[in-house]
Amino acid sequence: MDLQTRALHEGYTKDSQGTMAVPIYMTTAYEFRDAEHAANLFALKELGNIYTRLNNPTTDVFEKRFASLEGGEAALATSSGMSAIFYAIANAAECGDNIICARQLYGGSLTLTAHTLKRFGIEARFFDVQNPKSIEALIDDKTKVIFFESLTNPSIDVADIEAITTIANKHGILSVVDNTVATPVLCRPLEHGADVTVHSASKYTTGQGLAIGGILVERKGLLEKLRGNVRYAHFNEPDHSYHGLVYVDVPLPPFTLRARLSLLRDLGAVSSPFNSWLFIQGMETLSLRIKEHSANALALAEFLESHPKVIKVNYPGLKSNANYANAQKYFENGACSGLLSFEVQNLEAAIKIVDATKLYSLVVNIGDSKSIITHPASTTHQQLTETELIACGVPSGLIRISCGLESAKDLIADMKQALEA
Ligand SMILES: *Cc1c(COP(=O)(O)O)cnc(C)c1O
Repeated sequence: MDLQTRALHEGYTKDSQGTMAVPIYMTTAYEFRDAEHAANLFALKELGNIYTRLNNPTTDVFEKRFASLEGGEAALATSSGMSAIFYAIANAAECGDNIICARQLYGGSLTLTAHTLKRFGIEARFFDVQNPKSIEALIDDKTKVIFFESLTNPSIDVADIEAITTIANKHGILSVVDNTVATPVLCRPLEHGADVTVHSASKYTTGQGLAIGGILVERKGLLEKLRGNVRYAHFNEPDHSYHGLVYVDVPLPPFTLRARLSLLRDLGAVSSPFNSWLFIQGMETLSLRIKEHSANALALAEFLESHPKVIKVNYPGLKSNANYANAQKYFENGACSGLLSFEVQNLEAAIKIVDATKLYSLVVNIGDSKSIITHPASTTHQQLTETELIACGVPSGLIRISCGLESAKDLIADMKQALEA
């Protein structure tokens, strides 16, 4: 079935009440039939609900549906995009290991990988997403993850997914792709050789800026890559925190299984059933919205490109953009989502524009139905040094726009008055 049909139906079987909308199961725990049932659930001899930190029927629908859209085998919902990223990395790497990350990352992912994980003994090595060839020189036998974004936020580059996953596969390393901005509607990295995708559901999935959440998805057949792979001993050896379970010996998707049984169990960054329900509502209209977000962003990008005060526009849907070919290759119908950025002369000019717009809200979010303007250098990327800013493609005159669902005509008119104020 088509993605749009699955977005409405996948993963939900109506209950005895015939409930059309997926019910919100607000419950902490679930009653076992008897002691044997309880023991079987804990031993994975039977699958079922135990406690909402581990699983929940509403969240289960969200996970199944999202995994289907992404073309994956299984998914694990988390309390935020950041926890999904942390779990994806922590599920592969431990103290003494290293990960290879694109320099062009979301601000939170940069601080997580460069600073926080360092304190966990995991070293991040950075590469330029425009230059996948540079990855190989960074690999050694302690490399556990190659992490990048399909459509980077806020520098708006499109990764050559196949070039990167080919290198990862050659060395038996897990590739993890943050697919938040592109969404499964436009791009499905798992179909291009990636092993795991991560998302902030807080953005286009909810679609109206309603809730924080995240999800990670594992590809079909990842078990084969993990089985016997010396880089991932913890998937192949008994887990003593789970009575000697060997993850690759269980006929279940191993990456999400371990993330659930070990990380979600012990760290607990679980999605609230209510938030999972909101994400289910958002998914119903995701593909319709993404088409509109993309069309609006392209119209605004074309206007900005023609304006004398604008030095540079970053939008892969523009023929002049260095990422145009990758966007045509990896994105459905070449549509490029709602995120664009543009550069004006300096910090002062950028701040003046940000303050002069009326229709764009000054907010550090993306993927809302309402348009948003952000000045990364003074907000999301404030913690970075000037050198780090340039390295991750965020000069101080850069303005990021998340195009909402207002009319393109009104969005362009407001931007024009702000530029000329
Ligand atoms: C927002 C965002 C995140 C973090 O997600 P949260 O839900 O805010 O924790 C990660 N990656 C990208 C690309 C994002 O835009």
